[in-house]
Amino acid sequence: MITYHTHQRTALIDFLKENSDKAFTIEEIIVKTDNEELSRSTVYRLMTKLVNDGLVHRTVKGNSRSFVYQYIAEEKCEGHLHMKCTDCGKVYHLDSSVSSVIKEDIGSSTGFEIDSHTVILGRCNTCKK
Ligand SMILES: [Zn+2]
Ligand SMILES: [Zn+2]
Repeated sequence: MITYHTHQRTALIDFLKENSDKAFTIEEIIVKTDNEELSRSTVYRLMTKLVNDGLVHRTVKGNSRSFVYQYIAEEKCEGHLHMKCTDCGKVYHLDSSVSSVIKEDIGSSTGFEIDSHTVILGRCNTCKK
């Protein structure tokens, strides 16, 4: 039972990792993974777990009531800030050098130390158009 569950979890993580630049709704994940082991209830349960584990960001998609999910590799995400689009819910990884410039600029002008988990809210290039 545990092995079976782990297998589904791995399949789901692999898919999310490969598409870590995108955010998906549960429905999209089910359609795109096209894996009969990943039923609706399984995906729901696993995604909730992954969000709790901090591997996946869950955000509200625009003004809708649906959530989008995006994989965030913890090891990759140290040392840089993130930007989140409030329209599509997608999370963007800011370049570490850009993150450092922002942190240093704000730090030197105000003395304020920005937390490395800070997420900058705004609208992405796609949604702006
Ligand atoms: Zn990141
Ligand atoms: Zn967007």
